[in-house]
Amino acid sequence: MNNYQHILLAADFSEHGEFVAQKAHYLATKYNAKLSVIHIVDNLPITDAAYGPVIPFDIDLNEELMNAAKKRLAELGKHLGIPEDRQFLEMGNAKLEIVATAEEQHVDLIVLGSHGRHGLALLLGSTANGVLHHAKCDVLAVRLQDN
Ligand code: AMP
Repeated sequence: MNNYQHILLAADFSEHGEFVAQKAHYLATKYNAKLSVIHIVDNLPITDAAYGPVIPFDIDLNEELMNAAKKRLAELGKHLGIPEDRQFLEMGNAKLEIVATAEEQHVDLIVLGSHGRHGLALLLGSTANGVLHHAKCDVLAVRLQDN
């Protein structure tokens, strides 16, 4: 069995993120694999009571969000020793972008966090769920403690 060669950490900058990041870093060291990181900025439309979800985010606001995310990603990259060309920042739907980038970059293991959700939350589908179902490579869902 071959070792993993390219690991992709999906970072949402949440309070649990550091735990997931350390796991990805540990595995990359253990397998002597490349480590990349991805963050996706949501571009959800703003819901207006009168017109419904039809107003997309303001272009300037999107730019500000992307700039702020880029800074956080760079900090995390520095912390984990991930060079800039392996720090991926996308805008859109997290699960779709994670799966697409993993394919484009020939990633063989995606590492992300997973909450122990049940019932309705599972039906609605979490990012972890979506990636697990659509990724063509292995996915490690690191169990996070819910408060
Ligand atoms: P969630 O399903 O939203 O609870 O997120 C589960 C995991 O998916 C997180 O712990 C992250 O590893 C990853 N994830 C969620 N949202 C994003 C995002 N916007 N960018 C990158 N990774 C994300």
